[in-house]
Amino acid sequence: EGRIQSSASKANFHTSTENPMKNAHRFYIDGEWVEPETLKKHDVIDPSTEQVIGTIAIGSAADAEKAIKAARNAFAGFSRTTKDDRLALLKRVLTIVKRRKDEIGDMISREMGAPLIMARAEQAGLGAAHFEETIRAFKTFDFEYMQGSTRIVHEPIGVVAMITPWNWPINQIVCKVAPALATGCTMVLKPSEIAPFNAVILAEIMHEAGVPKGVFNLVQGDGPTVGAVLASHPDVDMVSFTGSTRAGIAVALAAAPTVKRVHQELGGKSPNIILRSADLAGAVRAGVRRCFANSGQSCNAPTRMLVPVERMDEASAVAAREAAALVVGPPSDPRTDIGPVASATQFEKIQALIEKGIAEGAELAAGGPGRPSHLSSGYYVRPTVFSRVTNSMTIAREEIFGPVLSIIGYETEDDAMAIANDTPYGLASFIHGAQSEARTLARRLRTGSVRLNGPAWDGAAPFGGYKRSGNGREYGKFGLHEFTEIKGIVGYAGD
Ligand code: NAD
Repeated sequence: EGRIQSSASKANFHTSTENPMKNAHRFYIDGEWVEPETLKKHDVIDPSTEQVIGTIAIGSAADAEKAIKAARNAFAGFSRTTKDDRLALLKRVLTIVKRRKDEIGDMISREMGAPLIMARAEQAGLGAAHFEETIRAFKTFDFEYMQGSTRIVHEPIGVVAMITPWNWPINQIVCKVAPALATGCTMVLKPSEIAPFNAVILAEIMHEAGVPKGVFNLVQGDGPTVGAVLASHPDVDMVSFTGSTRAGIAVALAAAPTVKRVHQELGGKSPNIILRSADLAGAVRAGVRRCFANSGQSCNAPTRMLVPVERMDEASAVAAREAAALVVGPPSDPRTDIGPVASATQFEKIQALIEKGIAEGAELAAGGPGRPSHLSSGYYVRPTVFSRVTNSMTIAREEIFGPVLSIIGYETEDDAMAIANDTPYGLASFIHGAQSEARTLARRLRTGSVRLNGPAWDGAAPFGGYKRSGNGREYGKFGLHEFTEIKGIVGYAGD
């Protein structure tokens, strides 16, 4: 806690005890920090202490409309800037993001409880990495080319509304902001009200980098008010949403009458298929760690571990040992593997699902209900492993978004494929085993990505979902593509 305070205070912390940030009660609209139409405050809670760390102003429909208007007015000018101008702008933003990276990480750690070291390296690190990857992809992206005698032109889609969640907050914001800036779009961002301060830092960065006024706008607020205005507004050309499938559907419904593009990154229930050719113990250990990283709050977490049925006991014992070895503790403690979950709502939802797993007859191999006994407050969840889970149980079907793993047995590889695909979601899959076999099976999985034998994520690979996990793709050149309209100018040859 002390470390977090002192590093952030250098650049940004306000002297007031009420708020960690000077711009917490203002929105960034048309190049300046403005007061809300009416001040309505919302508490931001540190999930490791359950204490209020500050308040933000929650926007109204009028604030959202003001931001949309600014973005609309800025679009004509910004969409005509040159590629070189925008490349230089992205580089200036990246430089400042790197300079303030630890401050962003410290803030995220306080807002949503990720361990401090991880929050700096991975949470804030991914924010910088996406700017870098976007810059790399932007340099070679073909915005115009000939196809026969037709000119194909990628143009910026227009005003983009961005609605983002709290679990990988700056990462999810930058996945949208970087390609939108690169392609010449203007934007209004509404971050999660649970982790809103990192977005304030980003807005300060945009300002310092000299992003032209009106191009980037930030309005804080909740989903049903600001989110709903952004999704339904006729002056918004695209809404890019990351969050739950429930809210993603609400956004799509609100967007439908205006026929805007709806990009959705939603939930998941990702299978991790451990083949007979795999090193079982190694794959199980890696799978447990990946499932429980960020307290299990990753949309692509491998929450369903599929193991050969005859090796269920062995897999379950290895997973239980690995789970028990993970240190659950305060985000500020460098020994912590797993911090709290982000909110009281999440804590209660996860507890109810753990109870449900027990009630439906799954075997509890590690963890279980309640807070770890060595912690007296905070939204801490015991790393929980269920074995002998069947794919029809609630814990195998619903996204839990906490450190809870389900181990499911399979008979044949065909079985494993059927179980893996038997879910409404389709975000990610993981396979462990011999390359040749894994490559073949990867093509049978109905998910937007497949990871073979546990590599780190490739930041240039497409990220997004099949089925109810979403529409569209983010990252690298796929992200750039998402924010453009494609025009065909036919008859382009000759005079
Ligand atoms: P959430 O859906 O409750 O909220 C996400 C955002 O949507 C927030 O900014 C919220 O204010 C806003 N919102 C809520 N209701 C809205 C509405 N009716 N209209 C407009 N906006 C609305 O999700 P959360 O609890 O913040 O995040 C967790 C969820 O996000 C999980 O389900 C997770 O799987 C998903 N997620 C998906 C991805 C992905 O890339 N596929 C990434 C991260 C998180």
